[in-house]
Amino acid sequence: AAQTPRYRRICLKLSGEALMGEKEFGIDLETVERIAREVKAAREMGAEICLVVGGGNIFRGLQMAARGMERASADYMGMLATVMNALAVQNALEAIDVETRVMSAITMTEVCEPYIRRRALRHLTKGIVVIFAAGSGNPFFTTDTAAALRAAEMGCDALLKGTQVDGVYSADPKSDPSAQRYERLSYMDVLRNDLRVMDQAAISITRENAIPILVFSLKDGIGGPVSGQGRFTTIADSD
Ligand code: UDP
Repeated sequence: AAQTPRYRRICLKLSGEALMGEKEFGIDLETVERIAREVKAAREMGAEICLVVGGGNIFRGLQMAARGMERASADYMGMLATVMNALAVQNALEAIDVETRVMSAITMTEVCEPYIRRRALRHLTKGIVVIFAAGSGNPFFTTDTAAALRAAEMGCDALLKGTQVDGVYSADPKSDPSAQRYERLSYMDVLRNDLRVMDQAAISITRENAIPILVFSLKDGIGGPVSGQGRFTTIADSD
């Protein structure tokens, strides 16, 4: 409990993949519960937290578009999938007494609140965990871009991006044993070397707003990056 957060307000991007655990698709409840406990712990450290959830575990728009579906329609299906994930995460958090609000970029007032920036800010200052659903509300975007956008809108001090490995590598460390792990990178390093950690739009938004991206391993959990300790890659411009 002596731990203090390094970053006061945090945006955590949770991909659909992060919610699958060892499953092939869908939601693994134990995994969601574990993430919820980590969010609660970070909350108890004093951090204000918002989450942007992906939908790839349920639906990926581009793949359907590639099979002949209209891209925009497929993308709307993808955004709806993120709402399902948001409700699962909300459920797990509320089960352990963390107050939450789901705010959707696509209005669905029977299910969750509509996204209103100033209202979301108000929730955060009250210590409520805000879960952003439906990405940006626009087709042709990703939830990574939506996460960068919400992080900027909420004035977050850091954007946390969980992956399968403990940071950004020069190549896939799972297939290339010579892959080098970076401790720190600039936004330009990521763009120039096409390091696939978040898409380019997300990197541009975080860069313009000087929001550091902390890339960490989902297995290690969010405690490390929240407290500024442990193994993760920081993407930021040197100050
Ligand atoms: N999507 C979209 N606009 C957004 C965010 C998401 O159209 O602002 C769609 C897109 O089709 C995407 C799907 O929703 O493939 C699921 O999001 P994403 O693939 O980013 O989820 P993740 O990979 O994080 O699970």
